[in-house]
Amino acid sequence: MSAPAPAEERGSERGPLAIGVDIGGTKVAAGVVDPGGRVLGQVRRPTPSRDVVAVRDTLLGAVRSLREQFDVVAVGVGAAGFVDADRATVRFSPHLAWRDEPLRDEISQALDLPVIVENDANAAAWAEWRFGAGRGESRLVCVTLGTGIGGGIVFDGRVQRGASGMAGEFGHMIVVPDGHRCECGNRGCWEQYASGNVLGREARELARAGSPVTVPLVERVGGDIDALVGQVITVAAGEGDPCAVELFEEVGRWLGIGLANLAAALDPGIFVIGGGVCDAGDLLLAPARESFRRTLTGRGFRPVPGIVAAALGPAAGLVGAADLARIAAGATTRGDRDGVRETAHGNGTVPSRYRLFGLAEHPEHDRH
Ligand SMILES: [Zn+2]
Repeated sequence: MSAPAPAEERGSERGPLAIGVDIGGTKVAAGVVDPGGRVLGQVRRPTPSRDVVAVRDTLLGAVRSLREQFDVVAVGVGAAGFVDADRATVRFSPHLAWRDEPLRDEISQALDLPVIVENDANAAAWAEWRFGAGRGESRLVCVTLGTGIGGGIVFDGRVQRGASGMAGEFGHMIVVPDGHRCECGNRGCWEQYASGNVLGREARELARAGSPVTVPLVERVGGDIDALVGQVITVAAGEGDPCAVELFEEVGRWLGIGLANLAAALDPGIFVIGGGVCDAGDLLLAPARESFRRTLTGRGFRPVPGIVAAALGPAAGLVGAADLARIAAGATTRGDRDGVRETAHGNGTVPSRYRLFGLAEHPEHDRH
């Protein structure tokens, strides 16, 4: 995607700003986001390995450096992992050493600002619903394909977090009993068949078996089969490499089957597909739509939900986290005040006046 347009080009005033932070396994990205979803300033820092205190200090440092330039009303932290439904505690994060980490209160005290913590895929889904490819849809499911599969559900203007914050872990639906081992401990999970990792795994397996179809791919990485990772396959597929295109067709087919399962359970109006693998566009989505159409429950007697590429790119997580934090803090636009909080679908065109509602007393303002 292109860089966010300057505010003046999008024709709106700023309104209350919030900082969103996306904590990944390799980098911490923080950005100042306005009520129209525009990123006004951003900093990136490497994630310091698996040291809990160092990660927190990096997060705080990034936020503080942005606060030197911008007045903000809240901070939203998007993190991979299991975040409780109160958006306060990271129960487990696969890339970081957080175990039952009370992140919200720690960060909030250190910054003296309202803070929410959100699962990164939920934050990205929210951003796509508010500002991106799923804007205005009443029932949206977002699926992010990276090393695994992240998922988020936004129904009727609310992120659906489930009873314990675990909703949307679509990647661990079992689609092949006794299939490939998954790091979650089970076998045959969807993300073992439809993610960026799968592209690399399958390419390496084929190459090691000496399959002639992989010869151009192996030459591409100078003979180093271990270097055949998802990103390489994505580039190769874009350039028409037949084996890479075939691998995308296979992953796309599995993507469509899993989406059909989700449609049977959730009946969304639209699926928004994000993540680096989506750079391949229709190389992935065309076979996904095809297998989805052939697998969909009630096909022929129901509208077929759209399957579209995400619009916001890698910034979706921090944009969504910032927006959710701004809304939770009660820093609303005029449009938000019409009886809605998280359900706000204000597009940032009327943020000229706003109020803060008891930030210190009610940091969880939007819970209802
Ligand atoms: Zn799994």
